[in-house]
Amino acid sequence: MTKWVYMFDEGNMNMRNLLGGKGANLAEMTNIGLPVPVGFTITTEACTKYYEDGRKINDEIMSQVMDGIKKMEELNGKKFGDHKNPLLVSIRSGSRASMPGMMDTILNLGLNDDVVEAMIAGNSDPAFERFVYDSYRRFIQMFSDVVMEVGKKYFEQLIDKMKEEKGVKFDVELTAADLKELATEFKAEYRKQLGQDFPSDPVEQLKLAIEAVFRSWDNPRANVYRRDNDIPYSWGTAVNVMPMVFGNLNDESGTGVAFTRDPATGEKKLMGEFLKNAQGEDVVAGVRTPMPITQMEQEFPEAYEEFLKVCKTLEDHYHDMQDMEFTVENKKLYMLQCRNGKRTAQAALQIACDLVDEGHKTEKEAVAMIDPRNLNTLLHPQFDAKALAAATPLGKGLGASPGAACGKVVFTADDAEAWDAKGEKVILVRLETSPEDITGMKAAQGILTARGGMTSHAAVVARGMGKCCVTGCGDIKMDEANKKFKLGDKEFHEGDEISIDGSTGNVYEGLIPTVDASIAGTFGRIMEWADKYRVLKVRTNADTPTDAKKARELGAEGIGLCRTEHMFFEEDRIAAFREMICADTVEEREAALEKILPYQQNDFEELYEALEGHPITIRFLDPPLHEFLPTDEGDIKKLADAQGKSVEDIKAIISSLHEFNPMMGHRGLRLAVTYPEIAKMQTRAVIRAAINVKKAHSDWEIIPEIMIPLTCETKELKYVKDIVVAVADAEIAEAGVEMKYEVGTMVETPRAALTAGDVAKEAEFFCFGTNDLTQFTFGFSRDDAGKFLNAYYDTKIFENDPFARLDQAGVGQLMDIAVKDGKATRKDLHCGICGEHGGDPTSIAFCHKLGLDYVSCSPFSVPIARLAAAQAAIAEEA
Ligand code: PEP
Ligand code: MG
Repeated sequence: MTKWVYMFDEGNMNMRNLLGGKGANLAEMTNIGLPVPVGFTITTEACTKYYEDGRKINDEIMSQVMDGIKKMEELNGKKFGDHKNPLLVSIRSGSRASMPGMMDTILNLGLNDDVVEAMIAGNSDPAFERFVYDSYRRFIQMFSDVVMEVGKKYFEQLIDKMKEEKGVKFDVELTAADLKELATEFKAEYRKQLGQDFPSDPVEQLKLAIEAVFRSWDNPRANVYRRDNDIPYSWGTAVNVMPMVFGNLNDESGTGVAFTRDPATGEKKLMGEFLKNAQGEDVVAGVRTPMPITQMEQEFPEAYEEFLKVCKTLEDHYHDMQDMEFTVENKKLYMLQCRNGKRTAQAALQIACDLVDEGHKTEKEAVAMIDPRNLNTLLHPQFDAKALAAATPLGKGLGASPGAACGKVVFTADDAEAWDAKGEKVILVRLETSPEDITGMKAAQGILTARGGMTSHAAVVARGMGKCCVTGCGDIKMDEANKKFKLGDKEFHEGDEISIDGSTGNVYEGLIPTVDASIAGTFGRIMEWADKYRVLKVRTNADTPTDAKKARELGAEGIGLCRTEHMFFEEDRIAAFREMICADTVEEREAALEKILPYQQNDFEELYEALEGHPITIRFLDPPLHEFLPTDEGDIKKLADAQGKSVEDIKAIISSLHEFNPMMGHRGLRLAVTYPEIAKMQTRAVIRAAINVKKAHSDWEIIPEIMIPLTCETKELKYVKDIVVAVADAEIAEAGVEMKYEVGTMVETPRAALTAGDVAKEAEFFCFGTNDLTQFTFGFSRDDAGKFLNAYYDTKIFENDPFARLDQAGVGQLMDIAVKDGKATRKDLHCGICGEHGGDPTSIAFCHKLGLDYVSCSPFSVPIARLAAAQAAIAEEA
């Protein structure tokens, strides 16, 4: 028979998979002799079983629960549902990974009219009567809200009404008689809302409450939290049943929450809050203003002294900052929870360094304990935490590029620039962005788009710039023509103020104040340790010297992807580029390319200068052509004039370039096959730049890495490579210098991966373009998948966006094949990844396992990747 229920003394801290974090830690605290009211944990497996059984708790589980209740009764000398000495319990959720505030808690369970009367009859103190009714009304309120999903507000309205009638301000000022009346009103409200009586049988209450906690694992906020934090749905939650201790018993009682170190700064000092004569939810809900924990020393000196000892015991035991909940009942301390406390990125770094200095942790353990995703917030401006907590999001898109931005809404790139020039802070809101928007994106504080996914143009470009960006906010009803959009029930016009959070994807009305990002000294220390232990190298995706310099500052060891088409977004260049793609003849195209060559060469020289001898992989042109075509009448006219063509001619060319599936169309090396002159020009630019920079810095090792995109067939790669090699060799010969260079390919089609053994005959390196590889493996358009993926999350078909987190089972298998087969052909083949997954910690761990040489990611993700790479190496050793 499966064991579904564990008494606290049967578990320990290593059983978190089965008992959840809270259950495992309650067990551990019990075992090391801390004052814990001894209860039991219903396992996470019981939760999984509940879902397997069609959301039902089976008899076997329920019978083990009742055995647990019996043992609790024996330990406490009280009886569940008894009319003389009743046992009341709390029910708390607790999954493997802590998910603060995501799931549910029910307190004071076991009360009913009879139990209430029996309790009062057994204690003549009038304050006790007040306590009993206070607990009863709390229970009805919580049970109705959490278990039966009747909104809290109905009950709060009744409390407010009562307080008004009695002329009091605080709940604690209500008398026993008031609370008794409230309990009656609450039960009537329950009946009114649900058409049935409040359940009086404690066993029925218990079963319904356990079901509610299991059910809360699947509530929308828990689902979103799990997706954001990479917690699998399959884990399930455990349920902890504990005897109640009462912080609301009298003035000798109270409840509190505390951290052993400051969770905001990491400073080593006890932080927390305490409320006299209250239950746990009062502290969190802000019904009354709690007192600082230190004040507890005056109010409850013995309990405070014991609590300080408990804090030390727990830190010494867990070797980490603890977040604790406790209650004092009649001056006696009880511990209700401990866990490694959530903390800001800044605090995480401080605490990790301090724990090493204090001898609690090794360097490796310190590196392993920091969530790399957390570092994001250190690198970009952030919202003021208090102001953010007080704000309600109007909508949610994808957190495509982290940071906090607020400003006035503008709808075009030109407006963004013009408003910026006037000193206005703006948010550029678009249906989707295109290359013309680039300068507007730069001018804006942040970018919000209605369409697009994590690898859409806006997302990729914004991440490159380190600019806050929210994409794919599908609830936006956009009316670009009339410069307005609707979100929720609000209509926004040009100049209206909004705030966007590029980490969570939340969109807010109005301006939320921001604070500048700062990098504490501990950051460098942790990064140094990470670098010591990682095996994977970390490069960056950068196309401009500014980005490249930023990435170098953040520790990038080279450029893994320079997208050369991004070098043509600027106004003067896009014109030449358009001439090139709209050319009719080779001569016209070559003339346009001649205009482009000096720009390209200069760009590459600047990049080589910025990289100071570190490697750069230059990816040859891979523009989905449609992204570069003019749409504006004025731009079309300009192009026609420059080409000496009519507007109609240009329009005809544009329409001939129209593709039904541009992402599967005339892009990548297919362009070089049709127009070899493009590859020739780019080769000249790369080699000339490398030669010039090498001349100026003879001590730098410069080996140009030329990368051919989108290969699916060895012969097409060879065709383009031969052109590159011929031009490169001629340039080198003409310059009369020695220069090594490499020609490699991106692996971003399934066919390239499957035939990698053959492809490696021509390619000197592989770089996985997992944006495209994901697109082609799934058959999902990377630009459109955002539109239907939500339905996939809702139905649990997917737990993550495969464009954000590498699909290891499918795409990962193709990568594995490619690495193995490629290296079998060419032993020294070096392999990297430069899709957006290169900045995702979970995907980085997978790349480490595959034995890649490097990951390449946007500049602001470089520290995250360094840390994640170290964690992967450390985890492998363990
Ligand atoms: C990719 O496909 O993963 C890649 C890096 O190239 P791009 O995003 O430019 O298509
Ligand atoms: Mg690609």
